[in-house]
Amino acid sequence: MVQITMPLNFLGTVYREIRQGLVDMEAMFDLLHQPAEILDAPNAPELQVAGGAVVLKEVEFHYDPARPILKGVDIVVPAGRSLAIVGPSGSGKSTIGRLLFRFYEVTGGSLQIDGQDIRDVTQNSLHAAIGVVPQDTVLFNDTIRYNIGYGRDGASYEEIVKAAQKARIHDFIIGLPDGYETQVGERGLKLSGGEKQRVGIARTLLKDPPILLLDEATSALDTQTERDILDALKAAGEGRTVITIAHRLSTVADADEIVVLEQGQVVERGTHEGLLNAHGKYAAMWAAQAEDRDEAAA
Ligand code: ADP
Ligand code: MG
Repeated sequence: MVQITMPLNFLGTVYREIRQGLVDMEAMFDLLHQPAEILDAPNAPELQVAGGAVVLKEVEFHYDPARPILKGVDIVVPAGRSLAIVGPSGSGKSTIGRLLFRFYEVTGGSLQIDGQDIRDVTQNSLHAAIGVVPQDTVLFNDTIRYNIGYGRDGASYEEIVKAAQKARIHDFIIGLPDGYETQVGERGLKLSGGEKQRVGIARTLLKDPPILLLDEATSALDTQTERDILDALKAAGEGRTVITIAHRLSTVADADEIVVLEQGQVVERGTHEGLLNAHGKYAAMWAAQAEDRDEAAA
């Protein structure tokens, strides 16, 4: 037994270390397998961002030809507006996020940002335009200042503080003995799930992307903590196009449009009020989650 468990524990530690050294794209999309390399088109220009309007036109996608994942998805998110994608686990929500980053290529239809097909522009410029707040923010074994500053190379101390303020984590940081120089991560101060998420939000704010993608950004948090950071997320979304992928519907109620995805198809769309009045799938999901919300409110 001892001989078996020791190497496994060791491997677990190494694995964590390796992951902490990686760009956190992987953690963002819980991708363990790297997709096949996608190349820029020859002489591809940079994406010219006007306001960050996102359009999915009859998007089809499969990882494996035998199993279609997205079956003709049409979505329009005007610049500066918010869209929420909800639906059961496995319905293809995160896949839409991966396609937006062009981690995978659509197998039908197209995806455009401000009128430009994302296949026609450089991936660097595409990635620069989109910020992600992942489900689980990865912290480096370094100072909190570094952990936020990582969002953009060369960010000044003032910019880091500004991002932290917007993410509602500044007051917490200056309350620490070493303030922004406090060591965090596995070998430093352990932050709670909510605090880590705020660091992740501050990091993304520093990047200042016109498009913000929140993939289950609060799903690892308890309902109360989630409520507490919703204001930070709201501040983060101001003046940006926001796409929120969520399981918990309390986080999406004020989106400009909500689409319900089921088995790779949009089966309902509308505002929160409109969808409740329609008494369809969204309304049923909302009712089913009412119990959680009541518990949190109690
Ligand atoms: P959601 O985010 O709605 O839970 P996903 O978009 O992550 O769903 O996944 C949609 C479907 O695609 C799931 O059935 C999932 O198992 C499958 N899938 C996700 N990633 C891969 C992959 N890299 N290779 C093959 N199948 C995948
Ligand atoms: Mg997902």
